[in-house]
Amino acid sequence: AAGEIRGGSGEYGGEWAHMNRGKTFIISGPSGVGKGSVLRVLLEKRNHIYVSVSATTRPQRPGEEDGVHYHFLDVETFRQRIARDEFLEYAEYVGNFYGTPKEFVDTAMEAGRDVILEIDVQGALQVAAKRPEAILIFIAPPSWEELERRLTLRGTDSPEKIQKRLLRAKVECQTADAYHYFVINDTLENAAAELDAIMTAEHCKSRERMEIINGN
Ligand code: 5GP
Repeated sequence: AAGEIRGGSGEYGGEWAHMNRGKTFIISGPSGVGKGSVLRVLLEKRNHIYVSVSATTRPQRPGEEDGVHYHFLDVETFRQRIARDEFLEYAEYVGNFYGTPKEFVDTAMEAGRDVILEIDVQGALQVAAKRPEAILIFIAPPSWEELERRLTLRGTDSPEKIQKRLLRAKVECQTADAYHYFVINDTLENAAAELDAIMTAEHCKSRERMEIINGN
Protein backbone atom coordinates (compact mmCIF):
# COMPACT_ATOMS: atom_id res chain seq x y z
CA ALA A 1 0.00 0.00 0.00
CA ALA A 2 1.39 3.41 -0.79
CA GLY A 3 0.58 6.93 0.29
CA GLU A 4 -1.20 10.03 -0.81
CA ILE A 5 -1.76 10.34 -4.51
CA ARG A 6 -2.30 13.14 -7.00
CA GLY A 7 -2.22 13.50 -10.73
CA GLY A 8 -4.10 12.14 -13.71
CA SER A 9 -7.11 13.66 -15.38
CA GLY A 10 -9.59 11.17 -14.03
CA GLU A 11 -12.40 13.57 -13.26
CA TYR A 12 -15.79 12.02 -13.84
CA GLY A 13 -19.43 12.94 -13.47
CA GLY A 14 -19.36 16.28 -15.29
CA GLU A 15 -20.99 19.14 -13.41
CA TRP A 16 -22.07 16.78 -10.68
CA ALA A 17 -18.51 15.66 -10.07
CA HIS A 18 -18.15 17.68 -6.90
CA MET A 19 -21.00 15.63 -5.45
CA ASN A 20 -19.36 12.27 -6.02
CA ARG A 21 -19.08 10.37 -2.80
CA GLY A 22 -15.99 8.54 -1.70
CA LYS A 23 -16.14 4.77 -1.99
CA THR A 24 -14.03 2.04 -0.47
CA PHE A 25 -12.33 -0.29 -2.94
CA ILE A 26 -10.58 -3.32 -1.53
CA ILE A 27 -7.86 -4.82 -3.64
CA SER A 28 -6.54 -8.25 -2.79
CA GLY A 29 -4.40 -10.75 -4.55
CA PRO A 30 -1.46 -13.01 -3.84
CA SER A 31 1.77 -11.36 -2.83
CA GLY A 32 3.95 -11.01 -5.92
CA VAL A 33 0.96 -10.59 -8.24
CA GLY A 34 1.90 -6.94 -8.79
CA LYS A 35 -0.83 -5.09 -6.90
CA GLY A 36 1.51 -2.23 -6.08
CA SER A 37 2.60 -1.80 -9.71
CA VAL A 38 -0.98 -1.94 -11.01
CA LEU A 39 -1.96 0.71 -8.47
CA ARG A 40 0.86 2.99 -9.55
CA VAL A 41 -0.39 2.88 -13.15
CA LEU A 42 -3.99 3.39 -12.01
CA LEU A 43 -3.07 6.45 -9.97
CA GLU A 44 -1.71 8.17 -13.06
CA LYS A 45 -5.20 7.86 -14.54
CA ARG A 46 -7.42 8.87 -11.63
CA ASN A 47 -7.72 11.75 -9.19
CA HIS A 48 -9.17 11.88 -5.72
CA ILE A 49 -7.83 8.57 -4.55
CA TYR A 50 -6.35 7.83 -1.19
CA VAL A 51 -4.36 4.62 -0.85
CA SER A 52 -4.33 3.51 2.75
CA VAL A 53 -0.92 2.85 4.32
CA SER A 54 -1.10 -0.28 6.44
CA ALA A 55 0.76 -1.11 9.61
CA THR A 56 2.81 -4.29 9.66
CA THR A 57 5.20 -6.22 11.88
CA ARG A 58 7.09 -7.73 8.96
CA PRO A 59 10.67 -6.60 8.37
CA GLN A 60 11.18 -3.64 6.05
CA ARG A 61 12.38 -4.62 2.56
CA PRO A 62 15.14 -2.74 0.79
CA GLY A 63 13.60 0.24 -0.97
CA GLU A 64 10.61 0.43 1.36
CA GLU A 65 10.06 3.59 3.37
CA ASP A 66 8.46 3.74 6.80
CA GLY A 67 5.21 5.69 6.59
CA VAL A 68 5.08 5.40 2.79
CA HIS A 69 4.86 1.69 1.97
CA TYR A 70 3.90 0.63 5.47
CA HIS A 71 4.07 1.82 9.04
CA PHE A 72 6.60 -0.66 10.37
CA LEU A 73 5.81 -1.58 13.98
CA ASP A 74 7.09 -4.09 16.51
CA VAL A 75 4.67 -6.75 17.70
CA GLU A 76 4.16 -5.08 21.08
CA THR A 77 3.13 -1.75 19.52
CA PHE A 78 0.88 -3.55 17.04
CA ARG A 79 -0.88 -5.36 19.89
CA GLN A 80 -1.41 -2.08 21.75
CA ARG A 81 -3.08 -0.62 18.68
CA ILE A 82 -5.34 -3.65 18.42
CA ALA A 83 -6.29 -3.17 22.07
CA ARG A 84 -7.08 0.51 21.44
CA ASP A 85 -9.31 -0.51 18.51
CA GLU A 86 -7.30 1.57 16.06
CA PHE A 87 -7.61 -0.89 13.15
CA LEU A 88 -10.49 -1.17 10.74
CA GLU A 89 -9.27 -4.74 10.27
CA TYR A 90 -6.12 -6.72 10.90
CA ALA A 91 -4.87 -10.18 10.02
CA GLU A 92 -1.89 -12.46 10.30
CA TYR A 93 -0.25 -13.27 6.98
CA VAL A 94 2.59 -15.80 6.72
CA GLY A 95 3.79 -15.12 10.26
CA ASN A 96 3.37 -11.33 10.46
CA PHE A 97 0.58 -8.95 11.43
CA TYR A 98 -0.93 -6.46 8.98
CA GLY A 99 -3.62 -3.91 9.77
CA THR A 100 -5.52 -0.95 8.30
CA PRO A 101 -5.46 2.21 10.47
CA LYS A 102 -9.08 3.33 10.81
CA GLU A 103 -8.51 7.04 11.20
CA PHE A 104 -6.97 7.77 7.78
CA VAL A 105 -9.61 5.81 5.93
CA ASP A 106 -12.45 7.67 7.62
CA THR A 107 -10.84 11.07 7.10
CA ALA A 108 -10.35 10.40 3.37
CA MET A 109 -13.91 9.15 2.93
CA GLU A 110 -15.31 12.19 4.69
CA ALA A 111 -13.34 14.35 2.27
CA GLY A 112 -15.14 12.58 -0.61
CA ARG A 113 -12.14 10.60 -1.77
CA ASP A 114 -12.14 7.06 -3.01
CA VAL A 115 -10.13 4.92 -0.67
CA ILE A 116 -8.14 1.90 -1.78
CA LEU A 117 -7.24 -0.75 0.74
CA GLU A 118 -4.67 -3.23 -0.48
CA ILE A 119 -5.23 -6.05 1.98
CA ASP A 120 -5.48 -9.83 2.13
CA VAL A 121 -8.66 -11.90 1.87
CA GLN A 122 -9.17 -12.28 5.63
CA GLY A 123 -8.95 -8.51 6.08
CA ALA A 124 -11.24 -7.89 3.10
CA LEU A 125 -13.95 -10.11 4.58
CA GLN A 126 -13.71 -8.24 7.91
CA VAL A 127 -14.16 -4.89 6.17
CA ALA A 128 -17.01 -6.26 4.01
CA ALA A 129 -18.84 -7.37 7.16
CA LYS A 130 -18.51 -3.90 8.73
CA ARG A 131 -19.00 -1.92 5.53
CA PRO A 132 -21.18 -3.87 3.11
CA GLU A 133 -20.97 -1.10 0.51
CA ALA A 134 -17.22 -1.74 0.03
CA ILE A 135 -16.28 -3.02 -3.44
CA LEU A 136 -14.04 -6.08 -3.46
CA ILE A 137 -11.62 -6.60 -6.34
CA PHE A 138 -9.31 -9.57 -6.64
CA ILE A 139 -6.16 -9.42 -8.75
CA ALA A 140 -5.09 -12.84 -9.99
CA PRO A 141 -1.84 -13.90 -11.68
CA PRO A 142 -1.95 -15.10 -15.31
CA SER A 143 -0.61 -18.46 -14.06
CA TRP A 144 0.97 -20.05 -10.98
CA GLU A 145 4.28 -20.44 -12.83
CA GLU A 146 4.30 -16.71 -13.52
CA LEU A 147 3.55 -15.90 -9.88
CA GLU A 148 6.41 -18.13 -8.69
CA ARG A 149 8.68 -16.45 -11.21
CA ARG A 150 7.72 -12.96 -9.98
CA LEU A 151 8.20 -13.93 -6.31
CA THR A 152 11.61 -15.41 -7.08
CA LEU A 153 12.68 -12.40 -9.17
CA ARG A 154 11.75 -10.05 -6.35
CA GLY A 155 14.43 -11.80 -4.32
CA THR A 156 13.11 -10.70 -0.95
CA ASP A 157 11.93 -14.05 0.41
CA SER A 158 13.69 -17.34 1.11
CA PRO A 159 12.68 -20.32 -1.10
CA GLU A 160 10.74 -21.66 1.87
CA LYS A 161 8.82 -18.38 2.35
CA ILE A 162 8.13 -18.28 -1.38
CA GLN A 163 6.55 -21.74 -1.22
CA LYS A 164 4.44 -20.57 1.76
CA ARG A 165 3.33 -17.49 -0.13
CA LEU A 166 2.46 -19.61 -3.20
CA LEU A 167 0.39 -22.01 -1.14
CA ARG A 168 -1.33 -19.09 0.53
CA ALA A 169 -2.01 -17.57 -2.92
CA LYS A 170 -3.77 -20.74 -4.11
CA VAL A 171 -5.96 -20.82 -1.00
CA GLU A 172 -6.79 -17.13 -1.48
CA CYS A 173 -7.86 -17.65 -5.08
CA GLN A 174 -10.16 -20.47 -3.99
CA THR A 175 -11.77 -18.41 -1.23
CA ALA A 176 -12.23 -15.28 -3.30
CA ASP A 177 -15.81 -15.96 -4.39
CA ALA A 178 -17.05 -13.15 -2.14
CA TYR A 179 -15.26 -10.69 -4.45
CA HIS A 180 -17.27 -8.56 -6.85
CA TYR A 181 -14.59 -8.37 -9.55
CA PHE A 182 -11.64 -10.44 -10.75
CA VAL A 183 -8.83 -8.71 -12.63
CA ILE A 184 -6.07 -10.78 -14.22
CA ASN A 185 -2.70 -9.10 -14.18
CA ASP A 186 -1.27 -10.23 -17.51
CA THR A 187 0.09 -6.79 -18.33
CA LEU A 188 0.10 -3.80 -16.00
CA GLU A 189 -1.70 -1.63 -18.56
CA ASN A 190 -4.55 -4.11 -19.04
CA ALA A 191 -4.97 -4.68 -15.34
CA ALA A 192 -4.91 -0.94 -14.55
CA ALA A 193 -7.41 -0.25 -17.37
CA GLU A 194 -9.78 -2.85 -15.93
CA LEU A 195 -9.48 -1.39 -12.45
CA ASP A 196 -10.10 2.09 -13.81
CA ALA A 197 -13.22 0.85 -15.63
CA ILE A 198 -14.53 -0.85 -12.49
CA MET A 199 -14.13 2.30 -10.43
CA THR A 200 -15.84 4.41 -13.07
CA ALA A 201 -18.71 1.93 -13.37
CA GLU A 202 -19.19 1.90 -9.61
CA HIS A 203 -19.61 5.68 -9.68
CA CYS A 204 -22.21 5.34 -12.46
CA LYS A 205 -24.48 3.06 -10.43
CA SER A 206 -28.00 4.31 -11.04
CA ARG A 207 -29.04 4.66 -7.42
CA GLU A 208 -26.15 6.93 -6.53
CA ARG A 209 -26.49 9.01 -9.69
CA MET A 210 -30.23 9.46 -9.14
CA GLU A 211 -29.67 10.54 -5.56
CA ILE A 212 -27.11 13.10 -6.69
CA ILE A 213 -29.18 14.44 -9.56
CA ASN A 214 -32.45 14.50 -7.61
CA GLY A 215 -30.70 16.08 -4.63
CA ASN A 216 -31.61 13.43 -2.07
P1 5GP B 1 3.63 -8.08 1.70
O1 5GP B 1 4.36 -8.67 2.86
O2 5GP B 1 3.91 -8.82 0.41
O3 5GP B 1 3.79 -6.59 1.59
O4 5GP B 1 2.06 -8.30 1.97
C1 5GP B 1 1.56 -9.56 2.26
C2 5GP B 1 0.06 -9.57 2.17
O5 5GP B 1 -0.51 -8.75 3.22
C3 5GP B 1 -0.51 -9.02 0.87
O6 5GP B 1 -1.53 -9.91 0.43
C4 5GP B 1 -1.08 -7.69 1.27
O7 5GP B 1 -2.19 -7.33 0.45
C5 5GP B 1 -1.54 -7.97 2.67
N1 5GP B 1 -1.73 -6.75 3.45
C6 5GP B 1 -1.04 -5.59 3.37
N2 5GP B 1 -1.53 -4.69 4.24
C7 5GP B 1 -2.58 -5.29 4.88
C8 5GP B 1 -3.50 -4.86 5.88
O8 5GP B 1 -3.50 -3.74 6.37
N3 5GP B 1 -4.41 -5.77 6.28
C9 5GP B 1 -4.49 -7.03 5.77
N4 5GP B 1 -5.45 -7.84 6.21
N5 5GP B 1 -3.63 -7.47 4.82
C10 5GP B 1 -2.69 -6.61 4.38
